[in-house]
Amino acid sequence: MSDQPRVAIVTGGARGIGAATAVRLAADGHAVAVLDLDVGAGSDTVQAIVEAGGRALAVGADVAEAAAVQSAVDRVAAELGPPTILVNNAGIVRDNLLFKMTDDDWDAVLAVHLRGAFLASRAVQAHMTEQRWGRIVNLSSTSALGNRGQANYAAAKAGMQGLTKTLAIELGPFGVTVNAVAPGFIVTEMTAATAARMNVDFEEFQRLAAEQIPVRRVGWPADVAHLISFLTSEGASFVSGQVVYVAGGPRA
Ligand code: NAP
Repeated sequence: MSDQPRVAIVTGGARGIGAATAVRLAADGHAVAVLDLDVGAGSDTVQAIVEAGGRALAVGADVAEAAAVQSAVDRVAAELGPPTILVNNAGIVRDNLLFKMTDDDWDAVLAVHLRGAFLASRAVQAHMTEQRWGRIVNLSSTSALGNRGQANYAAAKAGMQGLTKTLAIELGPFGVTVNAVAPGFIVTEMTAATAARMNVDFEEFQRLAAEQIPVRRVGWPADVAHLISFLTSEGASFVSGQVVYVAGGPRA
């Protein structure tokens, strides 16, 4: 089945998993809005898409700011058309053990992941329900199962799963599916920063991580993008409210 071209928004699309997903959705034939903190941040991803013959637009917005998210979605609708694919990918980490975790560490992580996914989903659902077609994919994580030093991040990523299941129930009657992907160890600047914080060489960090993963390798952004490509396809219309771990095994 060849998919109809749609308009997709990928939050945090400037780099890492978001950039790989934006490029993949463009290769699938969709016009892609690369939403990141500022317009300039997304320009490399947009350039890669355009050079490959695709259609893309860089949009600047902090996903935790309701007004900014709404105007970003309005701009995408005006310039590319009504967005009916949304990938809630933007994310940050502020790791610390509970006794050292500050109020700001907690609030910042919950704001970007969970509030950001809520705001973007709420802004985009109007277009999806009107079109009677939509795909939302939320980035969860194996950390949702619990991870030392990540009380804030684990809570946000577990929250993404509850948000996913609830939106799947509410939006299903409008032809909108909502799923979560939960990556394990993926090589990006986020995992590089974790290695640096732990004072471990990143190559060594990856080698040690791979030893613990059943398929004996670390993951790459394209591994996640491939799954998101499936979940946003026509053929995935009967898959909704699911959490799919993309971790080289059943858990982290
Ligand atoms: P990354 O390389 O750090 O990229 C995150 C992107 O999100 C960046 O482009 C960042 O922009 C953007 N961003 C941050 N805060 C934002 C905000 N308030 N508004 C808009 N954009 C914002 O991260 P990644 O490793 O690709 O992770 C992507 C997603 O996958 C995250 O949700 C993460 O939690 C999840 N995940 C990652 C892994 C992993 O192993 N890497 C595993 C499980 C889940 P700037 O560049 O301007 O900061």
